[in-house]
Amino acid sequence: MLRKLNNIIVIIFVVLSALILQFGKTFKVEAMILGVGLIAVIAVNHYFVKAHEKELQEKLEEVERKSKKKDTESEDKMAQIIASIPSALVYINQRGEFDVSNKKFNSILNVEALNVYDSRIDTNFRQMLLDAFLNEKQFIRQEVFDDVNYQVLSIPMLKKGRYNGCMIILQDITRLLEGEKMQKQFIANASHELKTPIASIKGMSEVLNRSDFDDEETSKEFLARIQIESARLEQIVEDLLLQSKLMENKLHLEKTEFNLRQFFEGLIYEKRRELHMANIEVILNCPSDVMIVGDHFRLSQVFINLFNNAINYAANESIKIDCNISRKNWNIRFCDTGAGIDESVIPHIFERFYRADAARERYSGSTGLGLAISKAIIEAHGGHIQVESELGKGTCFEVQLDPSETLH
Ligand code: ATP
Ligand code: MG
Repeated sequence: MLRKLNNIIVIIFVVLSALILQFGKTFKVEAMILGVGLIAVIAVNHYFVKAHEKELQEKLEEVERKSKKKDTESEDKMAQIIASIPSALVYINQRGEFDVSNKKFNSILNVEALNVYDSRIDTNFRQMLLDAFLNEKQFIRQEVFDDVNYQVLSIPMLKKGRYNGCMIILQDITRLLEGEKMQKQFIANASHELKTPIASIKGMSEVLNRSDFDDEETSKEFLARIQIESARLEQIVEDLLLQSKLMENKLHLEKTEFNLRQFFEGLIYEKRRELHMANIEVILNCPSDVMIVGDHFRLSQVFINLFNNAINYAANESIKIDCNISRKNWNIRFCDTGAGIDESVIPHIFERFYRADAARERYSGSTGLGLAISKAIIEAHGGHIQVESELGKGTCFEVQLDPSETLH
């Protein structure tokens, strides 16, 4: 505003000066005053112009400072984002240098290499980097580096339509592949377990249906076996459904408060015949006044399986049940003095369908689902189950329930 006013005054003075110069002889004094005024106005104008330029310069510097700050802030943010990406990530620039990379990538790289041509890089890893960088093509493929399975994604980067390096992302898919493998294994095992009873039911019913078949004794035996096999089929399917519900957290637990000693006494009574036949003595070491909270039916499934296992794999021995109950922990140890479990087998016994070879031979009625279901039931109660075993000495299962979890 001031500058505008100043400019107008300058123009007026210039016009007036021109007029006075024209008629200078008549108005000498006025011409001098106007001349001095003109110089003063020009000086003031110069001052204003300089001040304005300075102000502009300052504003410009401020804008630059702000944009620089913004740049460093967004660079910091970008670095944070790249570092927090759980997958390994690298940007290889057009000269083949590792321009941007995160910790995960550097740990796979394992050497302080600056570019893809460094011969210290593991040969397979370097080959993949070179493939991605030199081929300038987008690809997704699976690779194994250092026993870890990765899904490698390569994305070429373009700048003004020209190739400007590439971005590589390596995602660790080892667990995913293991899960897939387990899933396949599970389907194979389940089909195998279902196939056996189905085949025998089919075979026996075919014999019974033959027009020339009239052996009454065999017919009775076959019918009884068909009944047993179909009950077994039903049990497997029920166990599988229970397992899948437990895995998906869809099983509703009917929690009640009950006396732990009475609970075990009930189970021992239920299994009394089998225990007697297997010549197993049970020692129950559980105070009579202990109350716990849980799903009575599901917890009895867990301990019935432990009783069955002891009956099947620890005959002529003894079972000891110890209840260790405090305000913070409900601890139940279920030990037998049977043959024990081989060290190499222990990590697998909670897997679905897992049966040690010896168990398969000795007891063909099992499916290997009991402990997998028991584990899932205990975990659904917020607890843990673990095993300790020594060959020739016996096996102990320890069930730990957390009262604070169980009461929810
Ligand atoms: P299911 O319980 O489905 O009838 P199972 O008893 O074979 O079949 P789990 O209860 O899951 O299945 O047990 C898995 C395997 O662990 C058994 O096949 C057996 O090899 C081993 N095992 C379990 N308990 C004992 C034990 N007390 N002593 C020795 N081996 C055992
Ligand atoms: Mg079992």
